[in-house]
Amino acid sequence: MIGLISATAAGAAARDRLAAAWPGRTRVYDGPAGDALRSAFGECERVVCFLATGAVVRLIAPLLGDKASDPGVVCVDEGGRFAVALVGGHGGGANDLAVEVGEVLGAAPVVTTATDSVGVAGLDTLGVPVEGDVAAVSRALLDGAPVALRTETPWPLPAVPAGAQGSYTVRVTDRAGAPGAGEVFLRPPTLVVGVGASRGAPVEEVLALVEGALREAGLSPRSIARLATVDAKAEEPGIVLAAGRLGVPLVTHPAGRLAAVEVPNPSDAPLAAVGTPSVAEAAALVGGGELLVPKRKSAMATCAVVRLPARGRLAVVGLGPGARDLLTPRAKAELRRASVVVGLDQYVDQIRDLLRPGTRVLESGLGAEEERARTAVAEARRGRAVALIGSGDAGVYAMASPALAEAGDDIDVVGVPGVTAALAAGALLGAPLGHDHVSISLSDLHTPWEVIERRVRAAAEADLVVTFYNPRSRGRDWQLPKALGMLAEHRAPTTPVGVVRNASRPDESVRLSTLAALDPATVDMMTVVVVGNSASREVAGRMVTPRGYRWQAGTGEGGR
Ligand code: SAH
Repeated sequence: MIGLISATAAGAAARDRLAAAWPGRTRVYDGPAGDALRSAFGECERVVCFLATGAVVRLIAPLLGDKASDPGVVCVDEGGRFAVALVGGHGGGANDLAVEVGEVLGAAPVVTTATDSVGVAGLDTLGVPVEGDVAAVSRALLDGAPVALRTETPWPLPAVPAGAQGSYTVRVTDRAGAPGAGEVFLRPPTLVVGVGASRGAPVEEVLALVEGALREAGLSPRSIARLATVDAKAEEPGIVLAAGRLGVPLVTHPAGRLAAVEVPNPSDAPLAAVGTPSVAEAAALVGGGELLVPKRKSAMATCAVVRLPARGRLAVVGLGPGARDLLTPRAKAELRRASVVVGLDQYVDQIRDLLRPGTRVLESGLGAEEERARTAVAEARRGRAVALIGSGDAGVYAMASPALAEAGDDIDVVGVPGVTAALAAGALLGAPLGHDHVSISLSDLHTPWEVIERRVRAAAEADLVVTFYNPRSRGRDWQLPKALGMLAEHRAPTTPVGVVRNASRPDESVRLSTLAALDPATVDMMTVVVVGNSASREVAGRMVTPRGYRWQAGTGEGGR
């Protein structure tokens, strides 16, 4: 919940705009500002004050506790020009909130925590627990001092701008131990602890067993991803409470599923009690991985520890047609989430400034598509966070399909949709895609021409609006006239044709022509060609395809 506090009429107006923009996310605190702020500080995760920073500093000073638990506080000035992240920039979420507030109110976000203001990944924002000298190592990263990165446990982290040598160290590890001076440990969630317990086993006993097992194996409890057990024990208090105290989720599996897992130490007791010869080992091993601690027992509990195989992350990210403001926020977030970016050099140029320092960029020239796809998947298989980028939508005549044809179920895949050329062109032309439409690529590089021709004919007969991708290149010049000719057999010569070149790029051009008048020589590879259906018309210089045929005089078809 975001608490909102204001003291003046202008502040109240801005406050109401935020409340209206974020239904259900905010709570307005009325009354004297001091009382309101004290209540909000205690009750909300984040607070926006429409008050001077000085006033807010004085009011919250006695309330400040720990940066891990205090709410993030953002101040907005009377003129609504700035949204200042005052305290709790990282942990309290004030930096992100300042940006969000800025978007709604048109205010400039002001963020002063060093790592955010220079675009370096804050070590405490990587989404995994961190231990050690965070301040000193962050400082070193900011200053560009050499920081060594030692990845003992592969995990798909965002880029950390560190190298191989240095007097400061970032270690990615699930092994026990305390970081020394100038050292930071990142704790990836790699360990699954399988647990079993007889009815009524005390939580202290379960915890002691788990902690003892980790200690003897030299593993850190902060790298526990989850506890796992059999469905029948989902409510067993000792297990549920142990997960709670360790601060990790508890997952449970059906006995039949666990019975199918091969384990080194099966036994008869759990088979009789819950229907599987192993609970702890099987529940730990069910997702694969390496058994680091085989089953061990106390009077009423069992446990086993498995290290998960490194599971990389492949984000397939569409960058949109070119303009920065047609790149989605989600695409931007995925680019910053990656430590490796794979793509065509000209697309990498489009987003290079968004990448975190330390991101490895694997760019290649035109062609080489299969190789790019293979590289991206191979990097993800090594446990890395990879973004494979493409213009428009990465799934449309682009990298998603060759990549996913290579990828196995051993990596996580995330798709981020992008504004494809047909949509970018459609918006520029007017509303050409208002009824059923199809995209056809005229490139016969990967598809025999007979197949393309059959599809064009089908589209012509079905009276579909057609967007031609890859319409014409220097070596491929007869395909477009041929395809247009096939459409002309079924559509009037006056049918509108939109020609959009470099949509949303600096040299964008938009032309409206007709089937009879279009000169194919004016079309190239940076262009899409949108051919209307029999009902499409030009209205006030724009291309419009009606949503139905019904109101179109003389056609009599029933589409709606
Ligand atoms: N994945 C891309 C398409 C790749 S195929 C997308 O979803 O948009 C390449 C073809 O897309 C080009 O030959 C051209 O026909 C079209 N194209 C891509 N970007 C374009 C743009 N900004 N303006 C016009 N056409 C574009």
